[in-house]
Amino acid sequence: MSRFIFITGGVVSSLGKGLSSAALGALLQARGFKVRLRKLDPYLNVDPGTMSPYQHGEVYVTDDGAETDLDLGHYERFTGISCRQTDSVTTGKIYSNVIAKERRGDYLGATIQVIPHVTDAIKEWIKADLHDEDFVLCEIGGTVGDIESLPFLEAIRQLGNELGKERAMFVHLTLVPYIPAAGELKTKPTQHSVKELQAVGIQPDLLLCRSDREIPADSRRKIAQFCNVRPSAVIQALDVDTIYAVPLAYHAEGYDREVCRHFGIDAKEPDLSKWQEVVDRIRSPEGEVNIAVIGKYTSLLDAYKSLAEALRHGGIANNVRVNLNWIDSEIFEQEDTVQHLEGVHGILVPGGFGERGSEGKINSARFARERKVPYFGICFGMQMAVIEATRNLVGVKNAGSTEFGSTPEPVVGLMTEWVRGNVLEKRMAGGDLGGTMRLGAYEAILKPGSAVAGIYGKNAIFERHRHRYEVNINYKERLEKQGLVFSGMSPDGILPEIVEIPDHPWFIGVQFHPELKSRLFEPHPLFVSFIGAAVTQSRLV
Ligand code: GLN
Repeated sequence: MSRFIFITGGVVSSLGKGLSSAALGALLQARGFKVRLRKLDPYLNVDPGTMSPYQHGEVYVTDDGAETDLDLGHYERFTGISCRQTDSVTTGKIYSNVIAKERRGDYLGATIQVIPHVTDAIKEWIKADLHDEDFVLCEIGGTVGDIESLPFLEAIRQLGNELGKERAMFVHLTLVPYIPAAGELKTKPTQHSVKELQAVGIQPDLLLCRSDREIPADSRRKIAQFCNVRPSAVIQALDVDTIYAVPLAYHAEGYDREVCRHFGIDAKEPDLSKWQEVVDRIRSPEGEVNIAVIGKYTSLLDAYKSLAEALRHGGIANNVRVNLNWIDSEIFEQEDTVQHLEGVHGILVPGGFGERGSEGKINSARFARERKVPYFGICFGMQMAVIEATRNLVGVKNAGSTEFGSTPEPVVGLMTEWVRGNVLEKRMAGGDLGGTMRLGAYEAILKPGSAVAGIYGKNAIFERHRHRYEVNINYKERLEKQGLVFSGMSPDGILPEIVEIPDHPWFIGVQFHPELKSRLFEPHPLFVSFIGAAVTQSRLV
């Protein structure tokens, strides 16, 4: 029977609740338990797929095609467990399910209310699709006190009561700020936040207190006393130099021990040696490389969370620090690429949407191709590289993408149907935007002898997708004549999945998002190889 740990946050947002949930998951895993992590988001969107990256950071995509909160990325990177559709839910999704049931007449004449219908739907979601996990960690998005989160808090309160202490635990993440004028750390915000929680009937069992400095023992005692928790269950969570040191730091503070104690489990100490090794590597790299990332949302780095982590994983595998130089692609529409890209060891154009900045990405791909700098094009970055090659290698000057309006040479175009396994999936231009992209894991067949076949060491792969447009196969022959090889294709041979230039140190474009599958202990082969190429490049320049 699974035990449930409910994680809420208080005082302010951005305390790193997702990361801290992922770290606790990793610690319990290191003690030999089977864990599962889930995110419950109180906003009204059915999923974050239609949200601007500026609003909510990156949209993380699971193998089974759910568009989810970026915290699921932390969960996967820390625990190595692939999340599923059922690991992410929002108020919007819960309500649309409840309303659909009401329309079907499933409630048999009842008046549909937040309690019990919405809260029951939330509880069902939390308990559904479990497979003998020892622990299910449920993170509640938002901050306690928000109006939107009330049904979720009510649902977990009820669950806590139904399951009992032996099977449910409430963890609350708070802030203990340092006030320079007083020269002290202040516990009052934590006390207030716990009061908010108690007002909805939830008594936290453990407080995880974020602070930028040691919380003295008497302050911890004070928090324990006012908030009604055991002093040993007031855990300080100090800032650390790398996110991958968080599990080690938590363990040193006794977090996982307190969790086991709460459930009355006498578990063996966790083996954290692999965590220590990786952190040691991160802290003392043998060299460094500079990678330029040419994107659109460069002012909000959460928009590229998985990408930044995957590049870091590639760095760890190569024993180098990866310095990321985020460049807004629009710059290249006014200024020369050379002044920004000269001397970088690798250029990466990530996923993106819309015309703004696209010419700058095309210019970056050209620079990388002509100057023989390692180039990694991801999704939009592949599409832009193919447009560049069609224009400048094949000589079709007006090559473009139908994403930007009609074009006489649609090298990238909207696909209205494609095959997934044995199923024909269809889309319509002008249809709904939510949940209608090519989403989730699709198979690609790799060309024998290609660079990617060597990098993966396989001839078939599954990678995660999130896009509406595809490279147009009608240009394949002309591009291949000019040296751009289509080295990965959908199994039916219709959708280009990977392109590469053999006569180049490292030039690969992929239609999928490999960054979504890179994990700390399983770095993605393309990122390992790309950073390896950047290391070689750094020795040349
Ligand atoms: N905008 C492009 C498409 O929809 C690329 C999407 C992406 O990079 N994720 O096909």
